Amino acid sequence: MDDILKRLDERLSVTSVVMEESQIRVEARLSSNGASCPRCGCHSSRRHSLYTRTWMDVPEGAMPVSVRLALPKWFCDEKGCAQSVFAERLEWLPSYNRRSSRLDSQIRALAFSMSALQTERVCSQFGIRISHDAVLRLVYKTGVDESASPFRRNR
Ligand SMILES: [Zn+2]
Repeated sequence: MDDILKRLDERLSVTSVVMEESQIRVEARLSSNGASCPRCGCHSSRRHSLYTRTWMDVPEGAMPVSVRLALPKWFCDEKGCAQSVFAERLEWLPSYNRRSSRLDSQIRALAFSMSALQTERVCSQFGIRISHDAVLRLVYKTGVDESASPFRRNR
C-alpha cells in the first residue's frame, strides 16, 4: 500500500491499513519541510499545526480505498502578507476534491467509453459512489485537444 501511495507523492507514507468489510481504510502522513505561501509565494518552514483530508483513491482489487492524510499548515512570516497561516496544497488532490486525480482519470476513461449512467454503475461495483451527474461534471471539466476532436477536424 505504501508503494501505491508513493506513486501519488513520494512524501506520503502509510501509518495504518484497516481492511473493513466494504473498504480499505488507510491512514497516511506527509513528510514535508515546508511549502510556499499561496498568496505571496514565500517559502515557509515554520509549522503551525496538522489538519486532515480524506479522499477516495483508486480501488485495490475490487475494494475501494479511503485515505485519511495528516498534512501540515504553515505560518507565513512574510511581513505585509495577509495570509498568516496556510495549508499545504497537493497538486494531485485539488482543494475540496474528495477523489484523487488518478481516480478521477480512471472514472473519466470509463465515462468516455460509456454513458454516465453506466459509469455510475461500474463505479459502484468497485465501491466508488459517484452519481451520473458528478460523472458528467467530470466530463465537462475535461479539456479536449481540438485536433483530437472529430467534430472539429475540418475547420
Ligand atoms: Zn504569504
